[in-house]
Amino acid sequence: MSAQHEADVATTYRVVILGAGYAGLSAAIQLACRVKPSENVRVTLVNAQERFTERLRLHMAASGQPLAELSIPELLEGTGAHFERGWVTAVDANAKTVRIDDERVLPYDTLVYALGGVADTSAVPGAEDHAHTLNSAQDAEVLADRLARLGSGTVAVVGSGLTGVESASEIAERHPELTVVLLGRGEPGAAMNPKARAYLRAALDRLGVRVRSGVEVVKVFPGSVDLASRVDLAGSVEPAGGESVAADVVLWTSGTRVSPLAAAAGLTVDEGGRIVTDTALRSVSHPEVYAVGDAAAIRQGYGVMHGTCQGGMPTGVHAAVSILRELRGRRPRPFRFGYYHTPVSLGRHDAVVQFTHPDDSPRRLHLTGRVAVRYKETVTAAPWATWGRMKKMPASGAFWPRGGRFTRVGGAR
Ligand SMILES: Cc1cc2nc3c(=O)[nH]c(=O)nc-3n(C[C@H](O)[C@H](O)[C@H](O)COP(=O)(O)OP(=O)(O)OC[C@H]3O[C@@H](n4cnc5c(N)ncnc54)[C@H](O)[C@@H]3O)c2cc1C
Repeated sequence: MSAQHEADVATTYRVVILGAGYAGLSAAIQLACRVKPSENVRVTLVNAQERFTERLRLHMAASGQPLAELSIPELLEGTGAHFERGWVTAVDANAKTVRIDDERVLPYDTLVYALGGVADTSAVPGAEDHAHTLNSAQDAEVLADRLARLGSGTVAVVGSGLTGVESASEIAERHPELTVVLLGRGEPGAAMNPKARAYLRAALDRLGVRVRSGVEVVKVFPGSVDLASRVDLAGSVEPAGGESVAADVVLWTSGTRVSPLAAAAGLTVDEGGRIVTDTALRSVSHPEVYAVGDAAAIRQGYGVMHGTCQGGMPTGVHAAVSILRELRGRRPRPFRFGYYHTPVSLGRHDAVVQFTHPDDSPRRLHLTGRVAVRYKETVTAAPWATWGRMKKMPASGAFWPRGGRFTRVGGAR
């Protein structure tokens, strides 16, 4: 190694980004494309797979529709960002290192933590062992294979949130030979306006999905699920003595669980294990760690953001811009984001799009039918195209609704 090379290595500023999902990829591309060569910054993106997981399409994959082959290293070509494939097994926040596959150690000066979240199968006995999930493309493909071989029987989709609704619709449409039951505490589309909610419910009925709201699954068995005997509006549940629902296949979409790595590293996390951030998206306990996407607990004026792609991508971009501001001796700006829509597919031929206020409450305006199908597809396909554009014009990634008065928190401007 030449003396010059050693000097370069010693002065290189190392930014390591964990997770190449919607938030992590946004951070990596934004940072790598904005940084100047003279700033001597090395951006390394670590992810379990080379193929980008289009989570927004995993319900489609679960019903047998193949996902596109989207290569993360190819996307990064020309940006200067380095890709490291591997499973992150530990973060040492004191030594400022990341361990990958228990064998490689990556030092960092700034860390961007973007490991996302998965369906919480730990909350209910039996779910981990007997329920399918949509946590990865592989999980979705395993479920697709199982459904294709089932022939007849019942699929119980647990969780009446939007992932549950989209999954139940897709499976019912692709597998009319199967009975699909959607089980959950809330009404499907509960956060939508009454007309959009009624539309969504009618679509589920048309597809033959049997909706059972006001129920809570308390145990999963190989061929059935147990429901609580009583669930009240205040959230209290009486688990024992409830009904058993036959289910040849169970798909678990309820709740979110995040990687335990942040808590194990001693970073301040919320009750769900998400990293608590300051207004600039830095960990409140370790400011050299930025947390973005589903793995972060980000407070806005309306409350803590919930995991979405629409909010996750802006967090990644904001973290990248903030890192550069800090490197250039400037203070990062507060992150602000307001929701604007909830697009929900109802199989391949129907959809409903609820437009929202910045705090995610529903507006009167919503779309249904073909125009909603087109809208939903445009939104789902947008991230890959957005990153392509960002490579040529980084500033194009910095446009999102800031949320106006809804997002002002503690002096944020
Ligand atoms: C079926 C489905 C439909 C959805 N539809 C919508 C929608 O229509 N609109 C919307 O806004 N949101 C939707 N969501 C939610 C959305 O997908 C998430 O909010 C979004 O993916 C969060 O982005 P992220 O970058 O934080 O995490 P992710 O996209 O989950 O990325 C995390 C990355 O980190 C990697 N990773 C995790 N742990 C490790 C580890 N230890 N080592 C190495 N790599 C690791 C993962 O493999 C992954 O590549 C949907 C989710 C699902 C499951």
